[in-house]
Amino acid sequence: MMPFSHLTENLNTLAKQNLYRSRRIIDSPQGIHLQLDGKSVINFCSNDYLGLANHPAVVQAFKDAADVYGVGSGSAHLICGHSTAHHALEEELAAFTGRERALLFSTGYMANVGVINALVGRGDAVFEDRLNHASLLDGGLSSGARFKRYAHADTAHLDKLLAAATGNKLVVTDGVFSMDGDYAPLPELAQIAAQHDAWLMVDDAHGLGVVGKHGGGLLAHYGLSQAEVPVLMGTLGKGFGTFGAFVAGSEVLIETLIQTARTYIYTTALPAAVAAATRASLHIVMTENWRRDKLSTLVARFRCGATHRGLQLMPSVSPIQPIVIGDSQRAVNFSKTMLDAGFWVSAIRPPTVAHGTARLRVTLSALHEESQVDGLLDALMQAGAASS
Ligand SMILES: *Cc1c(COP(=O)(O)O)cnc(C)c1O
Repeated sequence: MMPFSHLTENLNTLAKQNLYRSRRIIDSPQGIHLQLDGKSVINFCSNDYLGLANHPAVVQAFKDAADVYGVGSGSAHLICGHSTAHHALEEELAAFTGRERALLFSTGYMANVGVINALVGRGDAVFEDRLNHASLLDGGLSSGARFKRYAHADTAHLDKLLAAATGNKLVVTDGVFSMDGDYAPLPELAQIAAQHDAWLMVDDAHGLGVVGKHGGGLLAHYGLSQAEVPVLMGTLGKGFGTFGAFVAGSEVLIETLIQTARTYIYTTALPAAVAAATRASLHIVMTENWRRDKLSTLVARFRCGATHRGLQLMPSVSPIQPIVIGDSQRAVNFSKTMLDAGFWVSAIRPPTVAHGTARLRVTLSALHEESQVDGLLDALMQAGAASS
C-alpha cells in the first residue's frame, strides 16, 4: 500500500454515501439576495439573523478603523496586538451580558476549545448535550477530562451522570441548538449544576442578538446570572454579523483564560477594525428592537404557513427552522431543486446531524419580507418536501 492511499478511497466513499461537501462561490455581500453563478438567489441559509453583516454603519465603522489601525493586528493579544478597539469592545460585551468581564477570541471554535481545556483536565469531568456544536465536543474530548454525553435536553439523565462523577465538573450546552433551533432548558440545567457543585457553560452563538430584551440572548431571556451560569460564550459572526467570539464571566475566569487558554495565547488577535465594526453592530443589536420583532413575525408566518401546507416542523421558536428529510441524497436533491427555484436553503447531513436526520436548515433574517417567506414555502411544496 502506498502511504495515504486511503485518502482517495475515503473521498470516494463520501461521494457514494452522498456526504461529499462542496463550496459554492458567491459574488455579493451577505444579504437577502446573493449572487450565485451569475444569478440572484434568495438567501435562507445564513446566520446573519439581524441583517448586520453588510449594514452601512457597521461597514463604515470597519473602514474608519482600518484607516486608524490598518488591517493586520500584528500579533497575539498578549504581545502587541491588543488595541483600544478590542479593549472597548470587551468592556461593552461585559456590560451587555451583565458579566464582570469579557474576553475576545479569534473564532468561536477556538473559544470553546480554549475555555474547556483551561477549566478541566485529567481527574475532572465534562458533561455535554448530545447535540452540542462540534467545537464544544472537540473541546471536551481534547481536555483529558472524563467525557460524558447526556441525551438531548435530558436533565434527569444529566443529574444521574453528575451524581456518579468526581473532580471538577463542567456542564456544557448550546443555548439555542444550532441545527434544531430549540432552546436548552437552562434554568433546570443551572439548578442541577448547582446541586452538584458543577459549573455551567452556555454557548449562546445563536441566541445573542436574537433572543431576549435588547438581544441579551438566552441568559437574558431566562434571567440567569453569572453565579448561575459562570461561563457564557458568544460568537460575533452570527447575530452580530461580523467575526470572532468572546467569553464572559468572572474576573477569575477571564484571568484564567488569559493566562492559560492556549487558543487565546497562541494566535493572532482579530483585526482591530473587526472589533470596531462589532462595536457598531452591538449598538444596533441593543437599540433596534424592530429587528427581533420582525424575526418573530417571520418565524410565526413560516410556522403557520408550513403547518397549513402539511410540512413537518421541529419545535423551534428561533429563526432556525429545520425541515427534516431523513435521507442525505433526498435532502441534497431538495436543496438543488430549491436553488433552481431561486431559494438557497442548505442541506445539512451527517456527521453534522445524526444519521437519518438529514435536513433543510431554513434560517430567517430580519431583512426578509413576508412575501419571500411565502415564496419559500410554496417552493418547498413544489419540491415535494411535504410528502417526506
Ligand atoms: C458557529 C458556532 C460556533 C463556532 O463559531 P465560529 O466563530 O464560527 O468559529 C460555536 N458554537 C456554535 C453553537 C456555533 O453555532
